Amino acid sequence: MIPSTELLGWYEREQRDLPWRRPGVTPWQVLVSEFMLQQTPVARVEPIWQAWVARWPTPSATAAASAADVLRAWGKLGYPRRAKRLHECAVAIVGEHDDVVPSDVETLLSLPGIGAYTARAVACFAYRQRVPVVDTNVRRVVARAVHGRADSASSARDLDDVAALLPDDADAPRFSIALMELGATVCTARSPRCGICPLSVCAWRSAGYPAATTQSRRTQRYAGTDRQVRGRLLDVLRGNDSPVTRAELDIAWLTDTAQRDRALDSLLVDGLVEQTADGRFALAGEGG
Ligand code: SF4
Repeated sequence: MIPSTELLGWYEREQRDLPWRRPGVTPWQVLVSEFMLQQTPVARVEPIWQAWVARWPTPSATAAASAADVLRAWGKLGYPRRAKRLHECAVAIVGEHDDVVPSDVETLLSLPGIGAYTARAVACFAYRQRVPVVDTNVRRVVARAVHGRADSASSARDLDDVAALLPDDADAPRFSIALMELGATVCTARSPRCGICPLSVCAWRSAGYPAATTQSRRTQRYAGTDRQVRGRLLDVLRGNDSPVTRAELDIAWLTDTAQRDRALDSLLVDGLVEQTADGRFALAGEGG
């Protein structure tokens, strides 16, 4: 049990001023933020989200953009397949839902790029529905405050677990946002700030902080990975309005040619890059 008065009172006072949580932000703009925030910190998302929604405020505006423009606007947010999926999602919303983001979880789940978390986040944050929204932050707060464990691996029970905590009234969506905010800013993975936590009862704290029984995931390395090489190759293509030669791409990564070839192949397979008839390379949609 997490008392909603404690959590909501704290959220009123301490919430971060995130632009996608402000009044007047549309469901499409919330959806864009959720695509961008997957595995990416708020500080990196904020400027790109601002520019994105100013340029393409609706699904139809995004759908009308070229895939290459979308990849350029995604910039260095990383995991660029998300940009491609977001573009496909916009096209589907225009074609199948009359330019209106669906509000129910089942229909949201049928759209490209939308999984269990994003569907519920949009239903809850954009449409104020009483649905459980479970990300790593929420899972951790519930594991600690309710179950007395240091953390929790993802499980099939998560949704029911969190749904049982939601207030029955109109506060439920705000409760979900507040729970996520608490995990992001106070009950953090490495150094929970229990001294300023608004929850008067926490099972993990009461139990004397028993150690985790499962190993925490190691932080993913970036330097030297295929992801970094893919990012370098995309940087070259984003910086050119016309297709580039293989040699121009090759200078982006000279340390390991096999890794560079593998990264380029994966970009071609993912449909983020295409090859022109004369053998040059371009962002998707710009190959002529
Ligand atoms: S008391 Fe500490 S461990 Fe418990 S929910 Fe608050 S910040 Fe997390």
